[in-house]
Amino acid sequence: IYKWHYSGLNRWHGAGSTADFQKIIQERCDTYTQTIRPGSRSRNCQAIRQAFMSAFISKDPCKATKEDYNSLINLAPPTVPCGQQVFWSKTKELAHEYAKRRRLMTLEDTLLGYLADGLSWCGEPGSSDLNIWSCPDWRKDCRTNYVSVFWEVLSERFAESACNTVRVVLNGSLENAFDSMSIFGRVEAPNLRPQVELEAWLVHDTGKPPSDSCSGSSIRKLKSILDGRNVKFRCMDNLR
Ligand code: NAD
Repeated sequence: IYKWHYSGLNRWHGAGSTADFQKIIQERCDTYTQTIRPGSRSRNCQAIRQAFMSAFISKDPCKATKEDYNSLINLAPPTVPCGQQVFWSKTKELAHEYAKRRRLMTLEDTLLGYLADGLSWCGEPGSSDLNIWSCPDWRKDCRTNYVSVFWEVLSERFAESACNTVRVVLNGSLENAFDSMSIFGRVEAPNLRPQVELEAWLVHDTGKPPSDSCSGSSIRKLKSILDGRNVKFRCMDNLR
């Protein structure tokens, strides 16, 4: 039992690959390219699905590298028109509502972000299948798993391509609206280019006093990361 448990497909602490992963990727890609952004440069969804699969199939699920995703990202770089980007941290739903209402774009509005949002995937050495039983949990098993590295490299490319004014929606109902260990804190903010202007929107739950504000220490920390990169910063409190 011990041996089966630790060498078997069930050994990781995270949920297994999403059922019908390949089919979902193909269908989302067709929907995105034909219905959501039909104007965008035509993309070969079959090639995208294949590049996605070869990034992680048959590989050790704890040894993902950014390079594994190079060919996938080259097929569909996560870029959006200048000045339209919205980042978020602990405000996923709200940020998407804000973005939609103002015709701005989050990472999940780019093709690869749209394809992978909410899905789980990992492979297994010596097998050409996805592991549907379990995948590494980023806290309990390993940080260098294929899902974490995917979001990190995609977020990095998304941030690097920012220009003019971009926004981030942060949660002012948390003690620290800016979390330096989050993907926004570790990957996106530190990869903004000089001369970009970041506008932070602090949202908080109505009916509760805000826990953090633009003058709090977590936002000061964000400002110091940006100062070091010559990124301009503005912060707006009290958005509901
Ligand atoms: P967050 O803390 O709200 O986390 C967003 C989601 O990513 C949560 O489900 C969280 O559990 C998960 N997550 C965070 N770090 C992870 C890691 N190392 N490995 C696996 N999952 C992890 O906000 P955040 O961390 O600042 O990330 C949000 C920003 O990064 C956004 O601006 C977005 O562009 C990008 N992003 C998107 C997704 C997504 O699922 N659509 C995931 C990660 C990052």
